[in-house]
Amino acid sequence: MLSPKALEKFSRKLGKMLGSGIPLVVSLEMLAREDSESGLNQALNQVVSKLKEGYTFSSCLGMFPGIFTEVYVAMVKAAELQGRLDSGLVEIAESCADGTIEPGNGSPEIDESAATPDEENLKVIKLLNQIISDAVKEKTGRVVCKPERDHVKLLIDCNAHLEHRETFDKSTYDRMIARVKMMSALDIAERQLPQDGRILVKVDNEMVDIRVQLVPTVFGEQVMLFFSRPDEKGPDLERVITDNTQREQFIKLMKEQKHGLIVFAGPHGSGKTTTMNIATEQLNDGSRVIFEIGRIYKSPAGISCMQVRPHIGMTMVNSIRTAVRSDPEVMVIEDFGEEEVAVECFKAANTGILVLTQMGARNTSEVFKQIFNLKVPPFLVYGGIAAVCFQVLVRKLCPHCRKEVDFSADDLFSLGLSDMKPGRYSDSCGCDKCNNSGYIGREAFYEMIVPDKNLKEAIIKGDNNEISQALEAIQGTRLENRVRSYAEAGNTSPREAARIRAILSLQAPI
Ligand SMILES: [Zn+2]
Repeated sequence: MLSPKALEKFSRKLGKMLGSGIPLVVSLEMLAREDSESGLNQALNQVVSKLKEGYTFSSCLGMFPGIFTEVYVAMVKAAELQGRLDSGLVEIAESCADGTIEPGNGSPEIDESAATPDEENLKVIKLLNQIISDAVKEKTGRVVCKPERDHVKLLIDCNAHLEHRETFDKSTYDRMIARVKMMSALDIAERQLPQDGRILVKVDNEMVDIRVQLVPTVFGEQVMLFFSRPDEKGPDLERVITDNTQREQFIKLMKEQKHGLIVFAGPHGSGKTTTMNIATEQLNDGSRVIFEIGRIYKSPAGISCMQVRPHIGMTMVNSIRTAVRSDPEVMVIEDFGEEEVAVECFKAANTGILVLTQMGARNTSEVFKQIFNLKVPPFLVYGGIAAVCFQVLVRKLCPHCRKEVDFSADDLFSLGLSDMKPGRYSDSCGCDKCNNSGYIGREAFYEMIVPDKNLKEAIIKGDNNEISQALEAIQGTRLENRVRSYAEAGNTSPREAARIRAILSLQAPI
């Protein structure tokens, strides 16, 4: 039989461990190793395996009436529902100390029938499995559960457009979150801090890697599931950079550049992550140590991924410093939007490491403005910057509904395209095949800047105007003019060219 003292000690320790951020399963496993009194450790090991099957913590405890009485289980359940298991357990420990709660007077044997039947929970397990298998079948990249004031919406990403599928009530959702946290080895008791985890599942014999992101919002935790298929290859270089000259330039840059910082820049949704991944793949030939540092848990072969976890002190800056100490050939940094991170990246680039990173920007001169705004000293930029790979995605006209339309000088002027000659241009009206958007597919336009002497001199002066001038001299044909020619050739509409021009100019948000 378990002594009241031992029950008190167990409750207090577990509460304290949860409070300090150790996940429930890990805490229980640790306690099971340490405690040997009256078979508590044996019961805890079984609790862990029941937890992994998807039962809630309180219903697991309920299976051991010989140790945990009905009152004990009810108090744990209350704390669980309020999402404060840690402080709840410490309060339970107090009640054990003053004799309000006593241990059960039986054996530590499991009695599954003693647990209150948890049909709700089984329903949630089924529901979640359904959501995951549907998402895999539809080949979606993202599922979002968005809590609102009194319900939760399930949204599924269909071609970069979120579609509302289902609505849950909050109590079902709370169970779902607990299940998701359990599956992705996250802390069940934590509801205030963002958490990142990962679930690996097999659906129809296909391995699926699900990145789990939990973000606390006013109406509760928002769950985001990002699906990727580890066995599936991303788009290849030929498909992403279709222009031969630019592709050769890109391959040459990746082959010859041994150190320095390469920034992949572009407006929001311009595919810079894809390009950075392709660059990483080019470098990943087995001859280099490559560190990839980011918030996401990834596992591509040949690359050492470090997941940033600020809540345990593994911040972006600390991760970069750790990676630098092991002297790798390449570091891939998810993004460098913080002052300290930007400075660390440039320091690494100056010490002989090839650093790849990405940045949201409207044009190449804005990339440099942002670097200086992040307080990177000009001498570090001067010595560190290797290249800027800027890109923008231009939508291609749908071949099914394209048509020729007359554009007058006034039409073109109002679109901000007064440099185009009035005349007939291709346009589209939208049809079933293109979801009424008028466009199918996108073409990436690149601008690859390798700093020359003039640009380097402008950089060491830290003069933004001089940098812009030096950039223009390197650029050759400006991106907006190339997009205009693309419209003139009938690949896209003047409207799309105008949209891109607005994005590239300083008026539109990134
Ligand atoms: Zn169409």
